[in-house]
Amino acid sequence: MPSASSQRSRNNDLFDRAKRLIPGGVNSPVRAFKAVGGTPRFVQRAQGAYFWDADGQRYIDYIGSWGPMILGHGHPAVLDAVQKAMLDGFSFGAPTEREVELAEEIVKLVPSIEMVRLVSSGTEAAMSAIRLARGATGRSKIIKFEGCYHGHADALLVKAGSGLATFGNPTSAGVPPEVVQHTLVLEYNHIAQLEEAFALHGDSVACLMIEPICGNMNFVRASIPFMQRCRELCTKHGVLLVFDEVMTGFRVALGGAQSVYARSIPGFKPDMTVLGKVIGGGMPLAAFGGTRDVMEQLAPMGPVYQAGTLSGNPVATACGLATLREVQKPGFYDALAGRTRSFVSGLTAAAAQAGVPFCGDSEGGMFGFFLLNSLPQNYAAVMTTDGARFNALFHGLLDRGIYIAPALYEAGFVSAAHSADDIHTTVQAAADIFKSLSK
Ligand SMILES: *Cc1c(COP(=O)(O)O)cnc(C)c1O
Repeated sequence: MPSASSQRSRNNDLFDRAKRLIPGGVNSPVRAFKAVGGTPRFVQRAQGAYFWDADGQRYIDYIGSWGPMILGHGHPAVLDAVQKAMLDGFSFGAPTEREVELAEEIVKLVPSIEMVRLVSSGTEAAMSAIRLARGATGRSKIIKFEGCYHGHADALLVKAGSGLATFGNPTSAGVPPEVVQHTLVLEYNHIAQLEEAFALHGDSVACLMIEPICGNMNFVRASIPFMQRCRELCTKHGVLLVFDEVMTGFRVALGGAQSVYARSIPGFKPDMTVLGKVIGGGMPLAAFGGTRDVMEQLAPMGPVYQAGTLSGNPVATACGLATLREVQKPGFYDALAGRTRSFVSGLTAAAAQAGVPFCGDSEGGMFGFFLLNSLPQNYAAVMTTDGARFNALFHGLLDRGIYIAPALYEAGFVSAAHSADDIHTTVQAAADIFKSLSK
């Protein structure tokens, strides 16, 4: 196995070159391995459940581009669709048939969405959804939850203030406090605090944005009673309930996390939904949608401005459409969910045998696990995980050719290309590492 120190490594060389020209050597921070240390793997190519790095080392990939690659890499039907689309032109800045087809698919698969607008990233979709919610309600305030990530728009880079009467503080330099003064940040799954916030501010809040199954603090579900209360309070106060399903859409189930909640809460629907990741199948594509009356407020129909040169890109829509057609094949999500569950239960059993605190959860092809005795319900609880232990697990797996997220607050993903063998290999490797962790 090529080790970074003992021999010349192309990963190291590329990282050195990258760091000279690209801040931190990466184009998105979590890729830099800052939390876990070491050299990021520069990916040369990928196929199915695997990718190969610049040193020719193969990895079983449990990130899948942070969620989009639900079919695995290089699925033949997707490749074919992309190649065909590409030959007809990369971008026109004029409408195309595939945008209509993709909108029809989304509206069919996610019943709460009556109209949809395509954009190029989850950040853009979430930012636009908030502007639309504000425009449609004529209100300024928004509610979000600690640990949920909705992209890096200024108003969303915020942590809780000192109390419910005060609004948030920026979490990034370059965000003026005035820009987050309308953002109220609450604790995830905390019903009493939610009720108090609505009692104080409910009638001036435009929207409540939430990751229903949060994949940006590893994997934390909104409890059924909490979600039910969010819905009731939003309805009562005229606040739009916005589901950020950039990660969970077409990932946890064909109808997204909202369909999972609708199984327990009859008739449950958000007012708006933000989508990304899987709908692009690995290409830059995202969307936001909702009820007709709200979506009709958007330009050119209504007064809320939103635009994009590459929005609904013809190659990206071909990639997304081909991906969405594959996931609609009978039994797709049952098989994916079964494999993901067997992965999490395999890891849980291996950790138990070694006496290492461990718990995990999954829905569809999305999973999370914690080096904790019980599943955390909010961000603060997630952060009680022992970072050094997580790093030992991460690097142990990486050395054994298994790639999981390089930070303990990220969810993981199984694709349809992961075989029972891949899962077995991974569980065996983890069992090995757990033994050393328990010493
Ligand atoms: C990834 C993600 C985003 C941001 O999407 P980008 O395409 O990276 O801008 C927003 N919300 C959630 C829930 C995400 O997981």
